[in-house]
Amino acid sequence: MPLSTPNFSFQVEARSATTHARTGVFRTPHGDVPTPAFMPVGTRGSIKGVMPREVREAGATMILANTLHLALRPGPEIVRQLGGLHRVMDWPGPILTDSGGYQVFSMADVSKVREDGVTFRSVVDGSAMHLTPERAMEIQCDLGADVIMAFDQLPADPLNHEQVRIATERTHRWLDRCVTRWQQLGGVDRGQALFGIVQGGCFEDLRRESVAAITRHDLVGYAVGGISVGEGREAIREAFAITTPLLPEGKPRYLMGIGTPVDFFDAVAQGADLFDCVTPTRHGRNHQAYTSRGKVNVRNLAWATEAGPLDPECACPACTRYPAGALRHLCTVGEMLGGTLISIHNLYFFHSLLARIREAVAQDRLAELRAEVLPRVEARYKPEPSAP
Ligand SMILES: [Zn+2]
Repeated sequence: MPLSTPNFSFQVEARSATTHARTGVFRTPHGDVPTPAFMPVGTRGSIKGVMPREVREAGATMILANTLHLALRPGPEIVRQLGGLHRVMDWPGPILTDSGGYQVFSMADVSKVREDGVTFRSVVDGSAMHLTPERAMEIQCDLGADVIMAFDQLPADPLNHEQVRIATERTHRWLDRCVTRWQQLGGVDRGQALFGIVQGGCFEDLRRESVAAITRHDLVGYAVGGISVGEGREAIREAFAITTPLLPEGKPRYLMGIGTPVDFFDAVAQGADLFDCVTPTRHGRNHQAYTSRGKVNVRNLAWATEAGPLDPECACPACTRYPAGALRHLCTVGEMLGGTLISIHNLYFFHSLLARIREAVAQDRLAELRAEVLPRVEARYKPEPSAP
């Protein structure tokens, strides 16, 4: 039975001659995604504090929602009864749901992992819950996202070869079970695509074995997982450098949990097409802004009398309609709108950076853009105090 459908396709449009970077278009039943693309995260069914229209206007084409959170509340059956995730999130474009694996395993102290699946305590009411590869497929079919993810095991200690080997080999067996259950549920006919997740921690031999095992299933796309749990940037870069060139050239490659400007440049050069992270909205709620002049703490007193925009190069509503001093005021007195405006600004910043990255890859000048952008963007910035 086929695992892919003409509803989904991936076309590489431009390739760098000097790196693995490429641009392309990922076509889904709910619209096209120009890649490399950043997916904002709507953990519990909303991109926190931001209306979907603003998310769209910021440049987002595809968004992500977390299966485990939605499985706990309101529950997959209720999401289905309400018309599915596209209705619940008021998002007409493509949506991806994770499998719940990451959330379960990031609560490893309360998890029991067996071959059958994982037992953990609900963060909502403390009751025991059991998640299996089959159940992860059933929940994601009910939620109804365009792209759903296979259920994988993240190793507790990603630097322990034996532990990583056990988790990686189990992930392969779990993918077989995911594929079987998903086919029984009529996943292809539902217009969904299943992505497999490559594991293997930071070990080259296990990464290679994992790519071989996961790509035995001819899926619509593949993700690189299990490398965002505290291994550090160097280890992540190395693990992805090993993994990416081995993944099929003609399929989208999704690097899970990546979300800072330096990470984007690294990952795109390694051949990644899709990313997700909570960074823009989490930082926004904490009044931290990424700007063309550097990282900004909007609450800093230096912004109090700033009549100009937070970021003169930004086209977002926060920068084009408000003096930076007014944003600082909203943030310091705790107005909800403060966090919302900074979140919107960060979304604009991330998506316009990705647009510039796509343009640079098409012209094979990613390294030049990196040298031009990164030193400023990753530094701290605050304005000079204005004269009284
Ligand atoms: Zn802005």
